[in-house]
Amino acid sequence: MGWICLLLSLFCYLAPTPDPLYDGTVRHFFTHALIAHTDVAFESGNDYGVHLDRDCVTPKEFVSFLEQAYRNGYALVDVRETYRVIGDGAERRAFPFPADKKPLVLSFDDIVYASKNSGKGMVDKLVLSEDRIGAISCSYDSPQISFDDECVPILETFVKKHPDFSYRGARGILCLTGMEGILGYRTQRDSLSRKTETERVKPIVEKLKENGWLFACHSYAHRHMKQCDAEDVRNDLAKWKAEVEPIVGETELYVYPYGEWVLGEQAKDERHKVLEEFGYRVFFGVGAKPFYGKMPLKSPRVLFMDRAPLDGISLRARRSVYLPVFDCRLAYDDCRPVPYGS
Ligand SMILES: [Zn+2]
Repeated sequence: MGWICLLLSLFCYLAPTPDPLYDGTVRHFFTHALIAHTDVAFESGNDYGVHLDRDCVTPKEFVSFLEQAYRNGYALVDVRETYRVIGDGAERRAFPFPADKKPLVLSFDDIVYASKNSGKGMVDKLVLSEDRIGAISCSYDSPQISFDDECVPILETFVKKHPDFSYRGARGILCLTGMEGILGYRTQRDSLSRKTETERVKPIVEKLKENGWLFACHSYAHRHMKQCDAEDVRNDLAKWKAEVEPIVGETELYVYPYGEWVLGEQAKDERHKVLEEFGYRVFFGVGAKPFYGKMPLKSPRVLFMDRAPLDGISLRARRSVYLPVFDCRLAYDDCRPVPYGS
């Protein structure tokens, strides 16, 4: 008996203490592809640069955001840990998380690198280089693979340096449309090189998944949901299912284009029902406040999470609600055409 007691106490001593369950606020920030080439984006005459300034952040700003969030005790969590699916709905659940950390979810919308925007300030595609994910800017002088000017490689480098920023290997969510392909590869139906482009992007998707990245549906054509009827939504999702899902796999995460959602009384709106019919269980909007609730509040089964934007507009708005995570002023990149505080 003595031996058994001794062995048991030794086992208890050696076994790691499980992390406590967390059921507090889950903060979620999102941005778009980064403004990799600020000199090009912000040079006069580049109209697209105005959009980039409004909707995106620069690599310097993204790194500052990560550093500040890390210093303030945040760590990435896999969003799937934070909810459970029940039938055709979902609900929040408490999840294990280190007591000295606060959970953070990051997502990145429209990681498309559309041909029409090539050479206007962003990279052109994600690539694999010696088993690392990098980015390439083919449409600029001396194109070369870089690891410091796009969100995926920057986050990978950051996690390598600070492994405790990623709880159980969590990364971000890439939110994809389909009409102009994905990740810089023209995989859409009207692309002449669709077949080869699909084969080319597959190993990158595999590597992203292996590293802990998730994929969300961001609709196929990025239309305003309020301007669509149920049939439009069905056709749109069917295209995503036919062209994007075979590459990235099934997902139950749906990110509304423009953060525009329609639920109707008791979530009975036909358009929402179509989203559920296609298997989507967790819905993401846009909102500055940390919010993870059930919408509409009377409906017990629709799980809806708001995401705080990281972009030029938000940084300049100096949102105090962001302060627990990061200070916009510290992050703001002086190379923007609009000075901070103006
Ligand atoms: Zn979008």
